[in-house]
Amino acid sequence: MAGELTLRVITPDRIVVDEPVESVQIPALDGSMGILPRHAPMVAALQVGVLRYRGKSGEKVLFVSEGFAEVRDNLLRVVCEAGETAGEIDEKRAREAEQRARERLSRKGEAATAAETFDQLRAEAALRRALMRLKVLEYGSRDRVRS
Ligand code: ATP
Repeated sequence: MAGELTLRVITPDRIVVDEPVESVQIPALDGSMGILPRHAPMVAALQVGVLRYRGKSGEKVLFVSEGFAEVRDNLLRVVCEAGETAGEIDEKRAREAEQRARERLSRKGEAATAAETFDQLRAEAALRRALMRLKVLEYGSRDRVRS
């Protein structure tokens, strides 16, 4: 339909979502950003987080990893390293990833070398991915109750 916003979320191995939407909240690097139909063209970097949107069947949430978003001609393209709907997230795997990352972080004292600093940053990033996946699961189950 003319004037309708389309959300397309693409990862290296698949298209996670491609559908008409009423509104989208993306986890931009500098905070959550709302996108409505007829949004001005823009590009924004994304942080690992929760993408929320309102589609034909109500509110939905997605996990998105690092990437970027681009809006042009009523098409919001999100290109990210990984993306999953609430129904696709494996809770056990996310909890195990959280546990592993917390263990790695707790073993570290002050990072003394560049390699240790790098390991710590990787563990922090892994922890954030795990926590955001668990958040999407939590929001997803609430949204299923509402819609
Ligand atoms: P893990 O340590 O469990 O692999 P990760 O955060 O390092 O987690 P990513 O690098 O973000 O994983 O993703 C690698 C691939 O695995 C992607 O295709 C992603 O969609 C998928 N993936 C990772 N964790 C989960 C999960 N808990 N449920 C479903 N798919 C997942």
